[in-house]
Amino acid sequence: MTIPLQDLSLRTPIDGRHRQMLIGGEWRDAVSGRTFETRNPATGGVIATVPQSDAKDIDLAVAAARRAFEGPWSRFKPYERQVLLLKIADVMERHWEELALSDTTDMGMPITRTLANRNRVLGMLRFYAGMATSIHGQAIGNSLPGEIVSYTRKEPVGVVGAIIPWNAPTAASIWKIGPALATGCTIVLKPSEEAPLTPLLIADLMQEAGVPPGVVNVVTGTGAEAGAPLAAHMDVDKVVFTGSTATGQAILRASAANMKRVSLELGGKSPVIVLADADIERAVPVAAMSVFANSGQVCIAGSRLFVERPIYEEFVERVAAFAAKLRIGDGADPETEIGPLISPKQLERVSGFIEDGAREGARLVTGGTRITEGALAAGNFMTPGIFSGVTDNMRIAREEIFGPIISALPFDTLDEAVRRGNDTPYGLGAGVFTRDVGKAHQLANRLRAGSVWVNTYHAIDPAVPFGGYKMSGYGREGGSEHLEEFLNTKGVWIRTD
Ligand code: NAD
Repeated sequence: MTIPLQDLSLRTPIDGRHRQMLIGGEWRDAVSGRTFETRNPATGGVIATVPQSDAKDIDLAVAAARRAFEGPWSRFKPYERQVLLLKIADVMERHWEELALSDTTDMGMPITRTLANRNRVLGMLRFYAGMATSIHGQAIGNSLPGEIVSYTRKEPVGVVGAIIPWNAPTAASIWKIGPALATGCTIVLKPSEEAPLTPLLIADLMQEAGVPPGVVNVVTGTGAEAGAPLAAHMDVDKVVFTGSTATGQAILRASAANMKRVSLELGGKSPVIVLADADIERAVPVAAMSVFANSGQVCIAGSRLFVERPIYEEFVERVAAFAAKLRIGDGADPETEIGPLISPKQLERVSGFIEDGAREGARLVTGGTRITEGALAAGNFMTPGIFSGVTDNMRIAREEIFGPIISALPFDTLDEAVRRGNDTPYGLGAGVFTRDVGKAHQLANRLRAGSVWVNTYHAIDPAVPFGGYKMSGYGREGGSEHLEEFLNTKGVWIRTD
């Protein structure tokens, strides 16, 4: 299968063109006129320039979102919002190859994966469309004297600021826009400066679907110049953030001035626990790809691989053999299984972890080398790797690497696996491989993580809540709890006698 570029409408700026951003239904440049370049991580080539926004642009976008929130959008009935969300899903479905190619070109994820995300992302939109007509308060009896009726109403929280990372731009955008529109909020979305193109394409498709001006605004820029003023803005009612824990903390501090509501999807250092009774044939590829998918640039990467001692050596060897066979290349090539890292800076950072791992006494069984020769030398490529002989206190076992590197650790008892698995400031995901249903339940109950996967990994569905424990953040995406994040509850009292 190949993607015939000439068949696409080429709204996706893979040709170095300038793209504008969408504020209040109009395509505009930054007030300052400044721009920045975005590059293809597989080639290092510039693929587009986009506006470099600052607080002035954020002010305009928030004002547009406020006008829309208080204007005609507030009169959209739930059914009308539902129809709109379904229309957006249909438009995105028609342009899915273009969206997939845009993500692949801007952030490197293999095209097979970006294409395969289709049902998940469109499913989110259709799920939220369904939810739009299910939002309701409650009639609640009270014990006051006299005749007073009391009930609750669910109301949209208002203007939402959404700040997303670069590692899955389409899905991250829709996980913010979907619930905002379902609940009747308006949104200002600030994509990552590393991968701003697909969110701009999505803005274009929103217009095609008939989203009213100002309901969805997409503003490009850096975290410091555009993200921070959005997080601190006094007229933003809520910030939804996905990104690193350090930035999440900054956003939380910035939110204090007007007490805006915040939900945070942050980093992780997820344990994968393989018991000696596991089906090893099945466990090896799943455990390996829990990290190597998207070159390890996945928040839920199962980067601490705990293996019960009797099968430890064999399991590590088999993961290493699996890693060595993965095809590395430009994500646009349908044969590619492992694409590049997002940037030279990220490549440098991951290389630093590999040096530290070796210095602290871990053994690199395979991979972890930069590709510096041949056709891939211009991109940010690294071979997928696994460290053996890792101990819990090493930096590679404690910090989020966000690269294609597994740290493998042996363990002896279930209690020990639970204690060490939970011994991290994070709590996003956890994996378990076992054939013993009792142990599966015990581990699912005792691991302190927002998602626990048994004999599988990466399973995510719009109907099932996803999010973090501890420093992986709070709030949930997916499921009915997600909509609650975008709603206020009002108590109403009416005296009837
Ligand atoms: P990042 O925190 O550096 O940036 C994320 C976004 O925040 C970007 O848009 C950036 O411009 C913006 N930003 C940076 N500083 C800011 C500030 N002071 N104020 C406001 N906005 C600011 O993260 P990243 O490097 O883009 O992404 C990788 C991180 O995201 C990893 O830690 C990963 O685990 C996490 N992540 C979490 C999830 C999840 O669902 N939990 C999903 C994907 C990624």
